[in-house]
Amino acid sequence: MKNVYSASTTVKKLAFCLLTALTLPMILTGCGRREEPVSRTDFCFDTVVSVTLYDIPRKDGERLLDRCTELLTHYDREVFSAHDERAVLWRFNHADPGEGSLTARLRSADVDPEFLALTERAFSWQARTDGAFSPTLGCLIDLWNIGGDPPGPVPTREAVAEALSHSSPEDPDARLDLGGIAKGYAADRLKEYLTGEGVTSAVINLGGNVLLIGARPDGSPFRVGIRDPGSGGESSVILTIPLSDQSVVTSGIYERYFEEDGVRYHHILDPSTGYPADSGLSSVTILSADSADGDALSTACLVLGAEKGQALIESLPDTEALFITAEGEQIRTAGFPEDLAGYSALTPSRSRD
Ligand code: ADP
Ligand code: MG
Repeated sequence: MKNVYSASTTVKKLAFCLLTALTLPMILTGCGRREEPVSRTDFCFDTVVSVTLYDIPRKDGERLLDRCTELLTHYDREVFSAHDERAVLWRFNHADPGEGSLTARLRSADVDPEFLALTERAFSWQARTDGAFSPTLGCLIDLWNIGGDPPGPVPTREAVAEALSHSSPEDPDARLDLGGIAKGYAADRLKEYLTGEGVTSAVINLGGNVLLIGARPDGSPFRVGIRDPGSGGESSVILTIPLSDQSVVTSGIYERYFEEDGVRYHHILDPSTGYPADSGLSSVTILSADSADGDALSTACLVLGAEKGQALIESLPDTEALFITAEGEQIRTAGFPEDLAGYSALTPSRSRD
């Protein structure tokens, strides 16, 4: 078996993620800027995360970034982790299931209200995406072990069927997994905190979930690069779009995967088959106000495919999408911004300068 994603140390994972961040925010040095940007990079949610604040004195910026690191660590390790025994989610999944459905248990258990609220939102996206987004795939996700070290191996058909039979919210043995929405939610909470502290220009980038606060210090929009899903380890940018105060989330089948016998198995599972989504799409980028919504939708659309995904996004207010097919065709919803042709892409590491 060839493990394409088999980083054995945090350092290797960091390097991997730096090279493969899905969405590359391009922070250009603006004329008339009063302060140098203040930036922090951490490793959280199993990926590289960075927050960059503009137009703020360094000392104040560092204080806010300390709190951002605390918040990210809290959400990652203490709330949404499926692997950390301290996490609310882990403890819920490993409590005695009893007889009732997962949803009944969730509502009766003494769980953290914030956790419960996000889980309810995840269920509401499940209903609105025809089940393409599912927060109860924990058994299948554990079985596929795509984020493991090493990942895989490919499970037997029987094992997939068994795990799939415990993937409904009605099943007492189902397990929660909020990996498809938690980063977007954490980004929203960081934005809420930073704007409350008076920040007016910032970029929050949680491994490809980019959430913008305001515009660049000179008032012009940020320029966000969308990765070419066909670029492999090169991470080249396929298009660059102008954006302010919005969320940009990309889900791609090339981000986390392993290969066995020449077949690639990626980390977004189709809840109707139990196997990695095979919708003909390589990536989906969602623009929205709220990053948790964008996160759930990018995962869902990758499962739904271009046609159903486009219909869903067109039905939602203030939400736009770009679908890139396996053949490299780009399909956009009506309001998706035009490519800023002529602006060259910056690399992820340069975007943190
Ligand atoms: P990433 O986490 O790489 O940014 P996504 O937001 O698309 O990508 O989330 C993928 C993660 O969501 C998986 O690693 C897994 O934890 C979970 N997941 C996989 N398939 C689904 C699905 N169909 N619905 C909801 N969550 C999913
Ligand atoms: Mg997602």
